[in-house]
Amino acid sequence: MQITRLDIDSHEEVYRLRDPNSGLTGFIAIHSTQLGPAAGGLRMRPYEDESEALRDVLRLSHGMTLKNAAAGLPLGGGKAVIIGDPAARKTPALLQAVGRAVESLEGRYWTAEDMGMTTADMAVIATETRHVAGLAEGLHGSGDPSPVTARGVFNAIRTALRQRFGADDLAGRVVAVQGLGNVGRNLCALLHAAGARLIVADVDPVRVVQAVEDWGAEVAEVARIHASSADVFAPCAIGGILNERTVPEVAAAIVAGAANNQLAAPGDAVALHRRGILYAPDFVANGGGIINVAAEILRCPDRETWVAEKLARLDATMGAILARAAAENVGPNEVAERVVAERMAAQAA
Ligand code: NAD
Repeated sequence: MQITRLDIDSHEEVYRLRDPNSGLTGFIAIHSTQLGPAAGGLRMRPYEDESEALRDVLRLSHGMTLKNAAAGLPLGGGKAVIIGDPAARKTPALLQAVGRAVESLEGRYWTAEDMGMTTADMAVIATETRHVAGLAEGLHGSGDPSPVTARGVFNAIRTALRQRFGADDLAGRVVAVQGLGNVGRNLCALLHAAGARLIVADVDPVRVVQAVEDWGAEVAEVARIHASSADVFAPCAIGGILNERTVPEVAAAIVAGAANNQLAAPGDAVALHRRGILYAPDFVANGGGIINVAAEILRCPDRETWVAEKLARLDATMGAILARAAAENVGPNEVAERVVAERMAAQAA
């Protein structure tokens, strides 16, 4: 296998992986190890080409530095991507090749599941490296992080409601959820149980029908869910959903969801703020999943208590960010990035 180091100024270490025997082409990016070993998931997607995959891994690994710092974890930011359709090209040999590449980094990068990966895939990777989390089995195995991610997003929605309306009661509130996957479904269940009315959209019609049956959800067009008449818009599907086209159409007072990299460009956060829409920064709102994974990486003996404490602290961080943004009359994303920079500077001092 060829592991080639690329010299990229913005990141500590970046590697191109190529293993013709298993068909692996991919990248591992370590953005920062300032707070601890870099941690972030492994994503497999049919990227158009290597440049698209490289752009994604650089952006996502930077996002993990922000997310891990915001969650108060002693972890840095990293990510890995594989080029290819997981349904067609994912094989044990390919996963093992990734495992060997991760092991070669001697613990400076920890991988876990992300899009296109499962806990079973992590078990295959674990045959080649110790530096993998998101395992279902074993003493510290943390399994699927999605329920904890959904809990964190639910908390973020309530905190944003409190900041915007002075009360966090969900009874009678309307939440538009984009994406009914692992996180979206868990989030809908929590919102429904708390008395919220749901509007949903998903490209998979089976998931939409299920949401109607389970929670009496109203259905929106996939391309229009962001414009639904709702109190909260919760993006739980794809990145870049808040962009030049959609931001002017958002009708909700609050945007808070699980999707990574919701903002297509930094200017979209400013545009939301100018429109008076409260945006709960994604890398704070969706930190529950990495908290769950971190308990495994850090081998926490009492995982449940540790995760619950970290989730509560994450929620307090969100509350402080939203309050500070309101006091300074700036968008919360800008404040969240400053909070992370302050934490990293304090750690370096
Ligand atoms: P998932 O793949 O299980 O679900 C995504 C859902 O979105 C699927 O049902 C899919 O059909 C739907 N979808 C795709 N494109 C769509 C579109 N254009 N419009 C509407 N629906 C669409 O993924 P997930 O694990 O639920 O994660 C959702 C998002 O949250 C992703 O952006 C992910 O990166 C992010 N995230 C997830 C976790 C986690 O713990 N799973 C943690 C942090 C962040």
